[in-house]
Amino acid sequence: MSDWRRKNEETDEADFAELMELEEELSYEDGYLHKKRSARQAELRKKRKRNQLIREIILIALFVIATIVIIIVVRKCTGDDKKPSPSESQESTPKNTTEFVTDATEDTTRASRETEFTVPTRLPDVTTEPVPQTEPTDPPATEPPTEGTTEAQGMIYNGVQLPPYRPLQQGASVAVQSGITMPSWVVQDLIPVDGAHRPGLVINPIKHVVIHYVGNTLSSAKDNRDYFATPPDSPVYDGRQVSSHFIIGLYGEIIQCVPLNEVAYAQGVSASSGRPNHNWDAISIENSHYNDAGEFTSMTEDSLVKLTGWLLQSYGLPANTDTIMRHYDCSGKACPKDWADNPARYEAFVQRVADYMAAHPNIAAEYP
Ligand SMILES: [Zn+2]
Repeated sequence: MSDWRRKNEETDEADFAELMELEEELSYEDGYLHKKRSARQAELRKKRKRNQLIREIILIALFVIATIVIIIVVRKCTGDDKKPSPSESQESTPKNTTEFVTDATEDTTRASRETEFTVPTRLPDVTTEPVPQTEPTDPPATEPPTEGTTEAQGMIYNGVQLPPYRPLQQGASVAVQSGITMPSWVVQDLIPVDGAHRPGLVINPIKHVVIHYVGNTLSSAKDNRDYFATPPDSPVYDGRQVSSHFIIGLYGEIIQCVPLNEVAYAQGVSASSGRPNHNWDAISIENSHYNDAGEFTSMTEDSLVKLTGWLLQSYGLPANTDTIMRHYDCSGKACPKDWADNPARYEAFVQRVADYMAAHPNIAAEYP
């Protein structure tokens, strides 16, 4: 009995030992598997994270590239419409004239003006419209606009000896400007695009016609046109940037210096004045005068009525004191001097233009 018992106990012990051994093995295998699974899990997580990161980087890169492309495209599109700030004054007038002297106060530094010309919008119109360029071989000499003005000695007007009338020759010209056909009674002698007098900037929609006097008694339309055309590299260039779309002379002759679709430097004001700069939305007309009071001859004024009326009709504008402005109304300058000193004469002129337009509802057709 005790033998069996001992044997049985021994067997039991052996069984127990094996059981422990197996359990130990099992737990070892569990641990191994667990470790292996954990390692694999960590590897997969890492891989997933890396792929995610790569996808994000690619997405960001694509976004950045797209943004850059959009910016470039937008800049290219809007870049052409960019204009320099229309806040600077650009006007001055011939030497030794009252207007010239007072203009100096409105002038800006050379450097700031030069920066303005680094970004000019060159005229697409001039090249797209049918452009007969300078034609020295084709001289349609203009007839003097009023009779009795061809005398070699010049006319005596209100007791003042006028310089002789010299027939004008058409110079550089553009037949159609801003869709408006230029009439034959305007002599085109466009000054060169030089970045100074004629910057070649596209003008905004026209809202006004601004009237000036040249401030240089008895100077002709041609004299003033040639002054505007002084090359910036000429030794006689005075550093001023000044021009006008039209100049009317003592005998009523009309010269165009700057095309209708371009800015002329005639009635600019400095930004500090707080006034709008009408260089950007007005056609300017300079006028010769026969005395220092700045009075126009009747021939000058007759041409001025016709030209102003034709311009207003061409732009579909009425004649009133808003559409017809004096330089005085733009900047406070005494220009035209006679109309600044005698506002009633300016008002009478506006009325004359209104009456003329009513009597001639289609000046362009009537006087092509
Ligand atoms: Zn003026």
